[in-house]
Amino acid sequence: MSKNHKYVFVIGGVMSGVGKGIATSAIGQILQAKGFRINPIKIDPYLNVDAGTMNPTEHGEVFVLDSGLETDQDMGNYERFLEMNLTPEDYMTSGMIYKHVIERERNLGYGGKCVEAIPHITGEIVRRIMRAAEKTRSDISLIEIGGTVGDYQNMMFLEAARILRLRQPESVCFVLVSYLPVPSKLGEMKTKPTQTAVRMLNSYGIQPDIIIARSTHPLDARRKEKIGVSCNVHGDRVISAPDIDSVYDVPLNFEKDHIGETILDVLRMKPKHNGTALASWKKFVAKTKNGTRDVTIAVVGKYFDSGDFVLSDAYLSVIEAIKFSSYWHNARPKLTWINAKEYETGMRKVSELAAFDGIIVPGGFGTSGIEGVISAVQYAREHKIPFLGLCYGMQLLTVEFARHVAKIRNAHTVEVDPQTDAPIIDIMPDQKKFLASGRYGATMRLGAYPAKLKKGTIARDAYGTEKISERHRHRYEVNPAFINKLLAAGLVFSGTSPDDTLMEIAELPREVHPFMLGTQFHPELKARPLAPHPLFDAFISAALKSRPLLVHKQKTIDAKKQKAPIPSKKISSLKLLKKTAFSSIV
Ligand code: GLN
Repeated sequence: MSKNHKYVFVIGGVMSGVGKGIATSAIGQILQAKGFRINPIKIDPYLNVDAGTMNPTEHGEVFVLDSGLETDQDMGNYERFLEMNLTPEDYMTSGMIYKHVIERERNLGYGGKCVEAIPHITGEIVRRIMRAAEKTRSDISLIEIGGTVGDYQNMMFLEAARILRLRQPESVCFVLVSYLPVPSKLGEMKTKPTQTAVRMLNSYGIQPDIIIARSTHPLDARRKEKIGVSCNVHGDRVISAPDIDSVYDVPLNFEKDHIGETILDVLRMKPKHNGTALASWKKFVAKTKNGTRDVTIAVVGKYFDSGDFVLSDAYLSVIEAIKFSSYWHNARPKLTWINAKEYETGMRKVSELAAFDGIIVPGGFGTSGIEGVISAVQYAREHKIPFLGLCYGMQLLTVEFARHVAKIRNAHTVEVDPQTDAPIIDIMPDQKKFLASGRYGATMRLGAYPAKLKKGTIARDAYGTEKISERHRHRYEVNPAFINKLLAAGLVFSGTSPDDTLMEIAELPREVHPFMLGTQFHPELKARPLAPHPLFDAFISAALKSRPLLVHKQKTIDAKKQKAPIPSKKISSLKLLKKTAFSSIV
């Protein structure tokens, strides 16, 4: 690897949940705009080997890479901001590192030595960081260390970062993302917690070069100076990062304080060009603010069981995909979260869906709320409301069609009713052994697979191409034994695996319904701000053309009256999660 390779570590101080992932993504984008090749790395300090077995209501969405690795949602932020497809080298957890070191030890890989946290765990971390740089041939590695300084779990990673700086003092830059509270009774921004965080970081042998000061308000010059002096950082290297409406404003906001040049200064580098790359980003950001009409979308799902709060982190990529396509259509997306269970209990009436321009049923697992989802699908189909089903959403579109159009009695998915005599959605043959032996981690059908699209269909016209590749995460599939019956009743399988065995996209003909389409894969994982996903585009376009059947829609979905989404981590700490949620995700 090049001796000139550089590393930027992003570390959290004071508390979590202040936007370290977005800060990292924004820094990456700014460095890209200055002409550098970046490889972002997310480090999750927990002991899970990957994020695949974690409850999305607690931890947020599981973001699947092309390779099939199940990672943290921050990887999705990186992909969206940096317009890159990330690789397994770009992600690590403590569990992954320990597992590797222990397996190597079992195979005498350490030549009889006593294997210890330092240097062996730290050595493995450094090795992986360097390998990622080498494989991606980047100029700068941008490494986000999860958690907050002071956590036991991320100590090894901080130690590895310190070692890298010791080896290459001029090649490493430390950025601390801190938080400055403004206690309501005082009305004044307090710097003390940041000072304490820096002291703590110092105790690991690390001095931050740059401090990103997150707060409700912008930093004034006095506070920049104060933080600078007390934290041993030049005032110019303290970046103001106030709360803003949209995460997509962050790169532009950071650049007001010249964070890019500052990082390059620390790394003793000069910009390769004074990038105009942010120009297209600026155009996108303008679109996010200049919508001329609302597009109202109901998301009917099952991961919303959190007391009075709406939990949107579990569907982050879906939300972003809707936003991108709406913005490029000059529309303001208005999402309403509907817990499908409430259709079952009668707390809500499915007829309320008439008030929306479009309906989405996103992915999910387990049995709860499924009849509620199916009634929503039926409503969308019968009332010709544009509908997009993602993974479980596609499977349930197929079940609904089987029950009510193909008239197949007891049609169901075996995920919900293993005894059904009409298993329209069945377990994939190679999945049986995993479930039977309780092997849940990384065993689903995961990652990118090719598919081919049928001429003349909505899907084919949306993509404008015959061959596609999309990311998957599922154990069940449309049962081949029922395909002929479904086709005969009018369902179109517009996307299939290249060998025709697996149904990838189901849709209704245009003559029957303006847009009723479901995908076995997760298109939302590949939607980007500057390259929105063709299927979301087609869906939003259909939604914008549709006229809601009810006119009271503004009343129902006025964004300001919606319950405020709050970060999932906060929700779990409030103990609002249902106990059964975890068991239903695998
Ligand atoms: N539970 C379904 C399956 O495993 C759908 C998965 C999903 O929506 N990601 O096949």
